[in-house]
Amino acid sequence: MHIAPTDTGWMEVIVGPMFSGKTEELIRRLRRARYARQRVGVFKPSIDDRFSETEIVSRAQAALPSVSLNDPTAILSLAEDLEVVGIDEVHFFDERIVEVAETLANSGKRVILAGLDLDFQAQPFGNVITLMGLAEFVTKTLAICMACGNPAARSQRLASGGKERIVVGDVEAYEARCRKCFKPYPLPQQTTLTHN
Ligand code: ZN
Repeated sequence: MHIAPTDTGWMEVIVGPMFSGKTEELIRRLRRARYARQRVGVFKPSIDDRFSETEIVSRAQAALPSVSLNDPTAILSLAEDLEVVGIDEVHFFDERIVEVAETLANSGKRVILAGLDLDFQAQPFGNVITLMGLAEFVTKTLAICMACGNPAARSQRLASGGKERIVVGDVEAYEARCRKCFKPYPLPQQTTLTHN
């Protein structure tokens, strides 16, 4: 970001597939704010307990203390005294997250949201797309296709993933894939066998 706004809040959105470094980028921005002695808070949905219930943790093992909650409106009171509000795995929250983010930014805070823009069928997460439209700054991180090495914007669910839209998982259940290598789920039988 070249110009940071002054005397106003704003919204930054970091989107991309799994394994693209979204959380790492979120942590990097929040750390810099901390070095500047800004009051920083981090929130995440409690559905996402893959790595830690009290921290957001990137795959590179960077970590920041965070608060886990189900109801996104609870962030409003918890963030009252904060200058910078980070929210990770934003696609897991229900549609109220949009108004919460708007309210926070309108009250003068810097709001940084990170999450998936596409689900495992490469369908957009509606709330995340709306947030991208409302945000001043949008960053799309790409992964590297684990099948061919091209830039990857999609998260491929592997055989162990099931059919729910939201399956919390990591390397055992997902791969980053490019447009060419992405296969709509459920996978053909012969492909599923190679991953388990
Ligand atoms: Zn590929």
